[in-house]
Amino acid sequence: MKKMIYLDNAATTPTAPEVIEAMLPFYERRYGNPSALYDLGQKSHDAIEESRKIIAQSIGAQPEEIYFTAGGSESDNWALKCTAESMVMRGRHIITTKIEHHAILRTCGYLEQNGYEITYLPVNDKGTVSLEQVRRAIRPDTILISVMMANNEIGTIEPIARIGMLARRYGICFHTDAVQAYGHIPIEVNRMNIDMMSASAHKFNGPKGTGFLYVRKKKRIPPFIHGGGQESGVRAGTENVPGIVGMGKAAAMAMESLKERMEIETRMRDYLIYSVLKQVPKVRLNGEWNNRLPNNVDFCFDELEGGNLLVMLDMDGICASAGSACSSGEHEPSHVLTAIGVPPEIARGALRLTLNEKITAEQIDYVTACIKKNVTILRGQKETVKFT
Ligand SMILES: *Cc1c(COP(=O)(O)O)cnc(C)c1O
Repeated sequence: MKKMIYLDNAATTPTAPEVIEAMLPFYERRYGNPSALYDLGQKSHDAIEESRKIIAQSIGAQPEEIYFTAGGSESDNWALKCTAESMVMRGRHIITTKIEHHAILRTCGYLEQNGYEITYLPVNDKGTVSLEQVRRAIRPDTILISVMMANNEIGTIEPIARIGMLARRYGICFHTDAVQAYGHIPIEVNRMNIDMMSASAHKFNGPKGTGFLYVRKKKRIPPFIHGGGQESGVRAGTENVPGIVGMGKAAAMAMESLKERMEIETRMRDYLIYSVLKQVPKVRLNGEWNNRLPNNVDFCFDELEGGNLLVMLDMDGICASAGSACSSGEHEPSHVLTAIGVPPEIARGALRLTLNEKITAEQIDYVTACIKKNVTILRGQKETVKFT
């Protein structure tokens, strides 16, 4: 069987063997409940606190500012719903963008139904939010600004530090969905003036169903899940000990290799973009070439259906995506591509390839050749045989 080339790392990443190895003892021998007083329980407790320290350190935070959750979607829901609820005396206005993940957009939709007012900021044709637009959207009753750090479809990196500074100046709480960014680009919550930040382990070679929410100490978030006293009493439920341990290990590994991985991925990303733009006609790169995640490539091909291209690439052993994992299977064109002004008939031909540091130049040559072949077939432009 042909070796698979996995280019859908924005949807999820393979769990690192070292992560699995770190997790296994917590299923097998070290199963104690972290709240229990005997040694077996305390060992689980210690392991969780060790992960908290690693993760806090990775973003320049304090351990008590890290809350473990069941992933990015939960972190986003918690940040938005609980801020909205606790700040309601001050106002009901929230600022976000049109290109957020559905975990943000649909939570905002829910809040709208409950009497909150949401401003969805537009982005430019590269997917960047304008600072001036943020400033103009701020009102006396604005209680929260939530802008993603990097977009999951087109990879655009937003000017988070400057938006954070603006929010700070106006005394407004600033949340960022950093699920695509954490473990892939450097993040410092203090330098970037971030008050709350969501991340998810399975996007950086950790286990699925585990994530965290960073909350600046002074901001004190209300409970999201009521029950026991876990996570300082704001997120009840017996901790996912193996998951949290695995996420800690994945975070430590991500930080250790960050610089090197970014270099390799950026080089390979640029080679893939260059090769496809050069060899395949009628294609556009979505987002900006430089200001994008090191591992993200997103194209639109004219005159074809992205879903069909995916099926053909799958037969060639290549795993890719038509955009966000959450919207594939839906027939609406991607809200992100719509927001950057891609016409619907072109947005249908979207292809997202998200790399990791293991990709080789030979694999990129193979992927480019497969894209070229399949695009030609799908456009019904098979080269006519020349008779001499
Ligand atoms: C994947 C993703 C999420 C959701 O994270 P889960 O852990 O899968 O719930 C949220 N936001 C962004 C930007 C993502 O890429």
